[in-house]
Amino acid sequence: MSEDRIKLEDWAQGIPMRAGPVSLGLYQPSPETAEYWQGLERKELLLRHCGHCNRHYHPKRIVCSDCGASDLTWKHAAGGGRVYSFSEIHRAPSAAFAASAPYINGIVRLDEGVHLFTRFIPDPGPVKIDAPARLDFRVLESEWQLPVFLVG
Ligand SMILES: [Zn+2]
Repeated sequence: MSEDRIKLEDWAQGIPMRAGPVSLGLYQPSPETAEYWQGLERKELLLRHCGHCNRHYHPKRIVCSDCGASDLTWKHAAGGGRVYSFSEIHRAPSAAFAASAPYINGIVRLDEGVHLFTRFIPDPGPVKIDAPARLDFRVLESEWQLPVFLVG
């Protein structure tokens, strides 16, 4: 995947997502999330941040729900967190995920207080509730570089 894979001018038509030969549909991100997706291409996990009340948000927020400020900025996630919930998937939901099964999906609670749906990778493991998790990046089924969390 090249650095310029995500081009804003392409977004209006949507970006086809594939997992090998399987189509995962058309992804249509919003301009408000552009920096988030472009950050992932650079192996950076960006969060929205309100400088007025120091609250972080996972993207898709343009107004702080605490204080109503609309001048949110982007901040790098420090990369640490804890397993909030997880599920080990043994039966792939579609052919696109068959080569990955078994795998572990779940929610990580970042040190910044943000919850993020992600893939957990036992390293060294095991994946369990409240286990420490560290940010990494992997190209998963969609062929997009996504944030994953190493656990253990
Ligand atoms: Zn705020």
